[in-house]
Amino acid sequence: MKIVVVGTGYVGLVTGACLSEVGTDVICVDVNVNKIEDLRKGILPIYEPGLDDLVVRNSSKGRLHFSTQLEEAIVGADVAFIAVGTPQGEDGCADLQYVLQVARTIGNHMNGYLVVVTKSTVPVGTGAKVKETIARALKERSANIDFDVASNPEFLKEGAAVDDFLKPDRIVIGVESTRAQTLLHHLYDPFVLNGHPILFMDICSAEMTKYAANAMLATKISFMNEIANLCDLVGANVNEVRKGIGSDMRIGTRFIYPGIGYGGSCFPKDVKALIKTAEQNDYPLRILTAVDTVNEDQKKVIIRKVNKHFDNDFNGKTFAVWGLAFKPNTDDMREAPSITIIDALLEGGATVQAYDPVSMKEAKHIFNGKVLLTDDAITATKNADALILVTEWPEFRLPDWEVIQSNMEKSVIFDGRNIYNAVEMKEIGFEYYGIGISR
Ligand code: NAD
Repeated sequence: MKIVVVGTGYVGLVTGACLSEVGTDVICVDVNVNKIEDLRKGILPIYEPGLDDLVVRNSSKGRLHFSTQLEEAIVGADVAFIAVGTPQGEDGCADLQYVLQVARTIGNHMNGYLVVVTKSTVPVGTGAKVKETIARALKERSANIDFDVASNPEFLKEGAAVDDFLKPDRIVIGVESTRAQTLLHHLYDPFVLNGHPILFMDICSAEMTKYAANAMLATKISFMNEIANLCDLVGANVNEVRKGIGSDMRIGTRFIYPGIGYGGSCFPKDVKALIKTAEQNDYPLRILTAVDTVNEDQKKVIIRKVNKHFDNDFNGKTFAVWGLAFKPNTDDMREAPSITIIDALLEGGATVQAYDPVSMKEAKHIFNGKVLLTDDAITATKNADALILVTEWPEFRLPDWEVIQSNMEKSVIFDGRNIYNAVEMKEIGFEYYGIGISR
């Protein structure tokens, strides 16, 4: 089976590499020439555990190819996945220009029956637009070629993307023909040998499923963040509350860890896009609107605590910041809370010394010399008036506190992810601020 994957970002590259791993012939296409040249040399544009092995192995076996020419790649393809970005447009809606551009090129150059699968996260109704775009392109060149469209939203988690793709909890596929369903069932069969389901449904429902999943997860996070903020005010410990509610099977233990707000390339934009879709249908989503507002506010919770500790004046102070990626095991800093926090510190006249195990290249680009980026976590604490833990990378869990204390001007820690034990930290001699566990 010949597969084309358009867009070689977090989703497209993982999709292409994993599909080639089960023996199909895959061409990954991107408009970014440098990315494609690097990938041909085995250099990956992103950090994703296990992905480099897959790319190098399958490229060397001749099953995985990289190209900038969709026009050529699409010839003879059985399935084309669209995995390009759908960034937030100015009005909050998902910007579909890249998806539809790709659909047009496919329509202009396909030469036989093809299933065009949208993997990008797109609003309900996009499948129909993709179909219309391809049909129009075919008509313009008087080509009478049969094709189907399908929706196959991606649920992978950055940092565990390869595992999620190879062993998914479920695969959701929206189709409108038996021919497309049979082909995609065949393609995905090797990934559900664990017995997990492939859920076939109509295209609108598949598109909606992706937004509903992200909206539900974002809701759990914002809900728990509000409970944590209230715990702070009433003197309760949210860590205990979390365990207390998480042991209820109806609630579950996952996604109820309070923190400094969700970030990344998906939750913020997908929540906003779903709110927009609802508005366009005259049905404002009140819960989700609050989820979004709470999240924006939560990114500032650490700054509020910093302000309180330093009597609203941290001008001239030095802060060590640990973790810049929006979550561990990725180098992705899109919408990362670290950016909001660091911007506020710099605005208040502070100096920032920061470290992240894999996002330093990205951070250099974002902060453009305004932040001192250190080679390791300990160096970031030199002469710091406080340490702020932003991303809970494993290597930050058990640091040498003695060395850190001797490095720092003052022993103050703001733990944005509640990874340290408040009592222990106080015993060591730190003034400790967590989320929802201290007054
Ligand atoms: P990304 O920004 O990492 O990658 C997108 C890629 O598409 C880029 O390399 C870009 O150069 C390429 N591209 C843009 N226009 C193109 C065109 N016309 N032809 C060929 N290539 C083109 O994006 P991503 O994080 O992989 O996300 C892709 C889609 O998947 C988005 O809709 C996103 O919401 C969704 N998604 C992302 C994740 C995630 O964790 N990142 C998870 C699930 C779904």
